[in-house]
Amino acid sequence: MRNSAEIVVIGAGIMGCAIAHALAERGQRDIVVLERDAIARGATADAAGGIRQQFSTATNIELARWSVRVWERYEERFAVDINFRQQGYLFLLDSPEEEATFRRNLALQQSMGVPSRWVTPDEIHELNPYVLLDGVVGGTFCPEDGWADTYNSTIGFARTARDLGVEIIEGAEVTGIGVANGRVTGVVTSEGTIATPRVVIASGPQTRLVGRLAGVDLPVDPYRRMSFITEPFDRLPETLPMTIEFSTGLYFHPESRGFLTGMGNREEPSSFNKTVDENWMITNVENLIRRAPAFEEASIMRGWAGFYEVTPDDNPLVGLVDEVEGLAVAAGFSGHGFMQGPAIGACMAELLLDGAASTVDITPFRPSRFREGQLNQEHNVI
Ligand SMILES: Cc1cc2nc3c(=O)[nH]c(=O)nc-3n(C[C@H](O)[C@H](O)[C@H](O)COP(=O)(O)OP(=O)(O)OC[C@H]3O[C@@H](n4cnc5c(N)ncnc54)[C@H](O)[C@@H]3O)c2cc1C
Repeated sequence: MRNSAEIVVIGAGIMGCAIAHALAERGQRDIVVLERDAIARGATADAAGGIRQQFSTATNIELARWSVRVWERYEERFAVDINFRQQGYLFLLDSPEEEATFRRNLALQQSMGVPSRWVTPDEIHELNPYVLLDGVVGGTFCPEDGWADTYNSTIGFARTARDLGVEIIEGAEVTGIGVANGRVTGVVTSEGTIATPRVVIASGPQTRLVGRLAGVDLPVDPYRRMSFITEPFDRLPETLPMTIEFSTGLYFHPESRGFLTGMGNREEPSSFNKTVDENWMITNVENLIRRAPAFEEASIMRGWAGFYEVTPDDNPLVGLVDEVEGLAVAAGFSGHGFMQGPAIGACMAELLLDGAASTVDITPFRPSRFREGQLNQEHNVI
């Protein structure tokens, strides 16, 4: 392993790869990405691949909006098939309070150019005739939303970054971050030591642990989330939108020749438990059948667990870490990070090379906001 670098990025998920790619594309040389496992094996591998612009905070809307433009042209730019299916996100709402909140968020999204709209129960029926409308007061729909293959999306960034000279080292766990006189000096890894003046932490659900290596508290905690995929199932068409019952967090969308479903257990405490809970699978499937009875005839082929990387306001830490010069972070995307990878890559490159992000103003997501008590809550968390 080399013994020095201009910039070290910790983590080769969507964030680490997008950041390294954006830096290299801007002409930065001497970048090393350190990954303890392999490229796209962390939270990115476990994600549902959803890409949406329906958020409640302006910063998330902008990040998503900018990223969608990249996802739409990703295949021609990166020569990899990501299967981006813009079949829309359909939110089902079951209370007047949620209606009021979503209508407020819609107004913000629309003012920023997002083609999301309110849909009545009749319109919901047209978009997805398979959901029962019991208790549904209405919903929101954005036809540009959709989902894509998270692995290939990350590989596209990683491969192009490598072509531009970035060294991505797999199987190298960072076990120490050197800090002297308030400045980053290097990283210690399972494979050797690298001297560097700049470290970017992009370590997903492990970010609190990695932050501690530099003596800083980065409030990102892992929460188990499970996904289940059905056997091939053609009772429902593969053209359906991503459909989400917002009050329970139940969602499903067509995937391969079947459907993918998930539903967060909001009572479960933070942990690194990655086993699949069979009882929760039953709860998930019962709720799916309650909302879309046609799934009674489907069978689950497999399930897996991964970690949401959750912060106290469900928004990420993106920016410089004030306490240590040369240290930056892009982590804690609270379950909606995959989709924002392109914009975060661009913003982090601008921050590191120009001193501030210009693609999107990311200061509302500065890491210091937790210390300052300036939380910036995202409402549309699934
Ligand atoms: C079930 C589920 C569904 C989801 N659905 C969606 C969705 O529909 N849409 C969406 O946008 N997002 C979704 N997400 C969230 C999304 O997966 C994450 O926000 C995103 O992948 C985070 O990317 P990352 O690069 O920050 O983290 P990761 O992909 O976890 O990458 C971090 C990397 O850092 C490495 N690492 C950690 N510690 C060290 C160390 N000490 N040394 C070296 N390497 C280290 C890890 O091995 C890992 O590869 C979902 C997540 C889950 C679990």
